[in-house]
Amino acid sequence: MPLGEFELIARFFDRGPARQALLGVGDDCALLAPAWPHCVTAVSTDMLLAGRHFLVGDDPATVGHKALAVNLSDLAAMGAQPRAFTLALAVPQVDETWLGGFCTGLFAIADRYGCELVGGDTTRGPITICITVFGEVPPEAALRRDAAQPDDDLWVSGTLGAAALAVGALAEGRPRAPGDRALGLALRHVARAAIDLSDGLVGDLGHILDRSRAGAEVDWSAVPVDPGLDGLPESLRLRLALAGGDDYELLFSAAAENRGAIEAIGRRLDLPLARIGRIVAGAGLRIHDARGRPLAVDGHGFDHFA
Ligand code: ADP
Ligand code: MG
Repeated sequence: MPLGEFELIARFFDRGPARQALLGVGDDCALLAPAWPHCVTAVSTDMLLAGRHFLVGDDPATVGHKALAVNLSDLAAMGAQPRAFTLALAVPQVDETWLGGFCTGLFAIADRYGCELVGGDTTRGPITICITVFGEVPPEAALRRDAAQPDDDLWVSGTLGAAALAVGALAEGRPRAPGDRALGLALRHVARAAIDLSDGLVGDLGHILDRSRAGAEVDWSAVPVDPGLDGLPESLRLRLALAGGDDYELLFSAAAENRGAIEAIGRRLDLPLARIGRIVAGAGLRIHDARGRPLAVDGHGFDHFA
């Protein structure tokens, strides 16, 4: 007898009494109390579809990891501390092996970040995973996309381009941990604007620039290109590193006076942080080489409807 809906939830997703939440899986709603004074709730949703964000045959633990990691990446980019998440899941049938693997990956990263599953919905259909995360951040410390100011430095964490190079972008494109999520918290009151790089630097930086009504200059020679791209033609390196997507690194702006503080954060978290350019008045993004010559990047940020 295959498991029914409620046995499935009980077996895989109900892990007993909630630890963080007042009330978790099993009632009509979960109940969450704020953990920190003076904080507001940061909420974000990301959806993963088989065939679009991963392949049906992919390791289910990696899929479970990625489903929550992309959401935690959004909390980090807001400077928010993870608290809880809900999971809306569609599966075509109850495949206990797949579900077991999925939960292994999902709960490993959930436990690592203290982010508790507090509810969800389960239905039959083509594999679809929709996670909503809840985090907390003092409102004045939130790293908003509209907060960049002319003369801010532009920084990026880690290296860029490896995920876009990996076929399928899942195995190597696993959002990295734990540095960048701790980075979001460390950047409270240090950075101004931040975004996580899901669609490629050019596109994602464009979102900060639109929201902040500003422009930017980026020095290609300062961009931390992943060593996996060594030896590729320069135009391909440019495209993979700046328009590739799925890197899940943080891109942020900060006042120049905070350079020392940011370098100290990088050392403390053992995370490379590269200063790649600056915010300027007026619209538009200009990318230049080491000698200041303008560069064009073909390919734009990923757009599901383009
Ligand atoms: P409702 O009828 O109120 O929508 P459901 O019968 O769908 O409730 O779910 C029963 C309980 O199980 C609820 O508390 C719901 O939050 C939880 N739940 C359902 N699916 C999941 C899931 N995939 N992960 C975690 N909790 C789930
Ligand atoms: Mg329901």
